[in-house]
Amino acid sequence: MVPVDPVSSPLPESIKKLGIKRWVDLALHFPLRYENESLVWAISQVVAGQFAQIQVRVVSSRIVFRPRRMLLIEVEDDTGSAVLRFIYFKEAQKNAYPVGQRIRVLGEARRSLAGLEFIHPRLRSGWLSPEEIGTQPLMPVYPTTAGLQQATLRRSIARALQSALPDEWLPPAMLAAYGLMSLPDAIRLIHQPPSDAEKTGVLSLLMQREGPAWNRVRFDELLAQQVALRRARYLRGSESAEPLAQRALPQRLSSAFGFQMTAAQHRVWQEIARDLERSVPMQRLLQGDVGSGKTVIAALAAAQAVGSGRQVAVMAPTEILAEQLFGKFLQWFGSLGVRVELLKGGLNAKQRRELVAEIAQGAVAIVVGTHALIQKDIRFPQLGLVIVDEQHRFGVGQRLALRTQVDGLMPHMLAMSATPIPRSLAMTYLADLDVSVLDERPPNRQPIITKLMASSRREELADKLQAFIAQGGQAYWVCPVIEGPREESDAPSREENLQAIETAAQWLRPLFGDQLVVLHGRMAADDKQLAMQDFSSGRRRLMLSTTVIEVGVDVPRATLMVIEHAERFGLAQLHQLRGRIGRGAEQSTCILLFDEPLSDIAKERLKTLYETDDGFEVARRDLAIRGPGEVLGLRQSGIPALRYSDLQQHVDWVERAIQFGAELSKIALDPRQASRLGLVPQSVDALIDRWAYEKEGLLAGG
Ligand code: ADP
Ligand code: MG
Repeated sequence: MVPVDPVSSPLPESIKKLGIKRWVDLALHFPLRYENESLVWAISQVVAGQFAQIQVRVVSSRIVFRPRRMLLIEVEDDTGSAVLRFIYFKEAQKNAYPVGQRIRVLGEARRSLAGLEFIHPRLRSGWLSPEEIGTQPLMPVYPTTAGLQQATLRRSIARALQSALPDEWLPPAMLAAYGLMSLPDAIRLIHQPPSDAEKTGVLSLLMQREGPAWNRVRFDELLAQQVALRRARYLRGSESAEPLAQRALPQRLSSAFGFQMTAAQHRVWQEIARDLERSVPMQRLLQGDVGSGKTVIAALAAAQAVGSGRQVAVMAPTEILAEQLFGKFLQWFGSLGVRVELLKGGLNAKQRRELVAEIAQGAVAIVVGTHALIQKDIRFPQLGLVIVDEQHRFGVGQRLALRTQVDGLMPHMLAMSATPIPRSLAMTYLADLDVSVLDERPPNRQPIITKLMASSRREELADKLQAFIAQGGQAYWVCPVIEGPREESDAPSREENLQAIETAAQWLRPLFGDQLVVLHGRMAADDKQLAMQDFSSGRRRLMLSTTVIEVGVDVPRATLMVIEHAERFGLAQLHQLRGRIGRGAEQSTCILLFDEPLSDIAKERLKTLYETDDGFEVARRDLAIRGPGEVLGLRQSGIPALRYSDLQQHVDWVERAIQFGAELSKIALDPRQASRLGLVPQSVDALIDRWAYEKEGLLAGG
């Protein structure tokens, strides 16, 4: 095999600016597009957004002053006309191209109201002769950075293709079955298409990043990710955990719920209970739309751990949510004689010290809190289970920090999330977790009615709301105050944000008087708790709040929600907010107030919410609008993004990589599997190495 990196020749320093460290990285640094000054397009065939050369005659050349000073040169060929637009130009340029002159224009074409246009194209005088056309090789244009010339990059990449080109390692039958080019051929073709590529149609495939060459590269990348993730999981299997096998306490707990569990809750609970009994640490993600009843499952898991003599840490992303969880746990566990404590921000030094000491003595069975639970001085001597609610609001680092070993044993972990993730995503980005899905809502729930309303109608809305409250209804009024996503309880929101809620309060207070209660992230912990209690007990019936109520808050009697400036919120966030209602048997209504004009994306979001209240559907559309990195909060996770594959667009290849990746992973356990698959065992290491997943720390902690 070709060594992955020819150690003898270090990379040129200038290349390292791209973050490229090895020759093989250069071989996998693909062009954005191709240029060829010997290729000529007819104007009628030029595709907007792509680089093209046209040969044309000058029709006119003039300087205009609106909307700003510009030089406009109009040109034509036998098939159409185009406009060349220069914002930076010298006066003399206007006369450099007299009417009728033959020139060539090279640049990226755009489609505008005026027709086809080129902004700041390169111009060459004279036309190519028919013999000259199509003779030169296509020049790749690479993504680069300031101070690194295309020429340097091209030279270095050409060298990489000679010394660090990966060998094909997949069996020929597989390539044939999937219609793939071999890996070295694919890489070479993408960098250096032959000069007849335009005629044969290969060029247009390459420009769209499709066809046998791109598919081969993509398959390689997706396989590398699959195998790396599966290895992480395999390593986890070699860790030990205390088996938590006592089922009596969960049994008793379930009779304290006051309702029958749904079939989905039963099924998911069985999955989790079985995991907990094993001596391998559970790492399970429980997914369920807002209101599907995840808390019940968390409590059952906690009961199994406590019943087995272990401590449980329950971590929530906000103080308010931690309070809520604590309230539920107290209610359910109180009668069972299990001690539950809340480690909240509002404790004074002495209280906190005492609580921390009791936790360290093992005297507290269940501790609920925010990320404050991960502080250094807090020790759980018998930690058996960590529960992370709304896990997508935490960074992976925070999630993992709680999983520190106690006496060489890992605690089990249950993460919960209301952001449903399509299978292809879950199987890739979250492949280090097992996934359970709560796909059924508790009985007697009616779908939420969602209405869109222009803000100009808010007075009218306030009248209706007054009547609703007078008849005993409970409602939320949500203001678009953007608070820090993870640590809102500590991070003071900015003054202008506070202003938004104060303005709303000033307007609502005269109308609703004592019925109004205000809640936002900057309030002291005790005040927040009080506000929440006032509202959940029904003593006050209109809650004006920021998005602090976005996750987890559970007041089933509240059946109406007004969201101001709905156009400013993201789709997932609106769905989460809306999930605060529709939690009881009564019909709930959500009113989205918006200000015009609406951007297209905002329109799309509001339309989606109007059309569906199914979390999976919302997530699917959200993914289409924002992409997986944003949706899953991968920015903070340290998981490398795929460079050439898109989980949505290339879902067929993702599926194949998931299947074959499972086979490949067996090679690590049993090298004989390699020959069964027709492979060299080392090829799997080389695969992961060239896509460098291992180096990104993905395996750490897993
Ligand atoms: P989420 O999945 O959003 O965390 P919760 O656990 O807060 O949802 O549950 C939403 C509401 O539904 C709570 O009031 C909870 O007590 C109630 N609930 C959960 N499971 C059931 C069930 N099987 N039958 C009736 N109500 C249930
Ligand atoms: Mg919840």
